Amino acid sequence: MPIPKAELHLHIEGTLEPELAFELAARNGVVLPYADTDALREAYRFEDLQSFLNLYYELMAVLRTEQDFADLADAYLARAAAQGVRHAEIFFDPQAHLARGVDMGTVVEGLWRALGTGEARHGVSTRLILCFLRDESAESALQTLDAAKPYLDRITGIGLDSAEVGHPPAKFREVYEAAAALGLRRVAHAGEEGPPQYITEALDVLGVERVDHGLRCMEDPALVERLVRERIPLTLCPLSNVRLRTVDTLADHPLPAMLDAGLLCTVNSDDPAYFGGYAGDNFDAVGTTLGLSEDRLRELARNSFTASFLEDDEERRARCLAEVDAYVF
Ligand SMILES: [Zn+2]
Repeated sequence: MPIPKAELHLHIEGTLEPELAFELAARNGVVLPYADTDALREAYRFEDLQSFLNLYYELMAVLRTEQDFADLADAYLARAAAQGVRHAEIFFDPQAHLARGVDMGTVVEGLWRALGTGEARHGVSTRLILCFLRDESAESALQTLDAAKPYLDRITGIGLDSAEVGHPPAKFREVYEAAAALGLRRVAHAGEEGPPQYITEALDVLGVERVDHGLRCMEDPALVERLVRERIPLTLCPLSNVRLRTVDTLADHPLPAMLDAGLLCTVNSDDPAYFGGYAGDNFDAVGTTLGLSEDRLRELARNSFTASFLEDDEERRARCLAEVDAYVF
């Protein structure tokens, strides 16, 4: 059995496997421009962030009804549970659905149909994090937050994703302030393709509590020192970094150096259907390729629960941490 872990960086739309994409396409009468699942799987071999995003948005066309979103989330929960995930904080991209005429209620209630019973059926507790697309306007983000207001009992926090370069965090100051006033937790992608200054800006201007990726902090020693001092968690996604060429090969990944520096790193899957693996696969890959010791792997698993938004269920966090401590490799 894999080591128990929490997954804190997971885009639910990025869990759409070719088989489910074809099933939902058939159900909804959507014609996909691929002959079969093998041809689609070939298309998953993209070159960079933009070519990935193009396919990612194209395939979303198959998600139409509450049941489609429920099936998507349920498939993720089953796979995650099999890889030792006990808790998942799940991103979703409502703007990508609203733009296609699928409303907020369909997305949130559909996801909740599966997530609401995820702990009972799969042993995986969950939280939902609404992400804004940073290549859309600040005004669109504000409208999206507004559309989410009837569903805030289902939503724990907000995040910021999609194409990073040219879209600095400060662009979204207003919507982050509004979300904070509503009591929502705040995270943001920063320092994946964008420069270290984006990480500082996400902390200082958006007030984020956790940084998604944050890899490029390593270019700025003063920033590393601050992240260590303030115990800011970073949600790293090693297999994603390789597929999107953020690092050349997994062997070049800075994770060991980041742990040595004292950073609170976690290991996650990002968009597992596209990037070659779920949370456990990422753990296995870094353990093997980077030669991480059992102590380091246990530290990563502990960090994932420490960095999670389980403040409303400290009993569960303590139980999961105890399971990590008792785990025998
Ligand atoms: Zn991401």
